[in-house]
Amino acid sequence: MFIHKVPKRVQKTFPEFIWRKSGEHQKVYLTFDDGPVPQVTDGVLEVLEKFGAKATFFMVGANASKNPSLAKEVQHQGHTIGNHTFNHLNGLWTRASKYLENVHKGRNYLEDLLGQKVIFFRPPYGKIKKRQWKAVREFHEIVMWDVLSGDYSQSLSVEKSILKTVKYTQNGSVLVFHDQEKTAKKTPYILEQVLFQLSDKGFEFDAL
Ligand SMILES: [Zn+2]
Repeated sequence: MFIHKVPKRVQKTFPEFIWRKSGEHQKVYLTFDDGPVPQVTDGVLEVLEKFGAKATFFMVGANASKNPSLAKEVQHQGHTIGNHTFNHLNGLWTRASKYLENVHKGRNYLEDLLGQKVIFFRPPYGKIKKRQWKAVREFHEIVMWDVLSGDYSQSLSVEKSILKTVKYTQNGSVLVFHDQEKTAKKTPYILEQVLFQLSDKGFEFDAL
């Protein structure tokens, strides 16, 4: 079974991370991990524009360096850009020093390219060790999520993704989608349906 909602107890165990922005009325924070990837990211941007929605894109430095104009286009359209390491490293399998070096590399690349500070960071796979996050927190706000769309799940139908994502979203929720090759076929469709239904419930979509 796919778990869309991060349990409250997990959120409470790590109060150092942003899971959800409580106190926000009728606002939802859309986030996209792993891009920018041609076509996929463009498709996501189109849907967002249609709904007047702003979002946060956690970019992999290596992808941004292959597609710098696309990364800048995301910025140009008023979205926030966050760091997702340079090579999409899994914190649990990586030495702290190597991990931090890769976080810095991603941050430096994005900041040079965009000409602005990159404040937010999301650990790939949501996996990060204490030594790593303690160091990353010196220069980034670490953002997790409270609702997974499940767009990358092979076993989940798009209908179920849409249904559950809408069901679990509440005020201030942080939703995760992916703009990468593996989700290319599903994400724009799921996103459009989710935004359609959440708009209908009176939600607005903002960047972090
Ligand atoms: Zn990722």
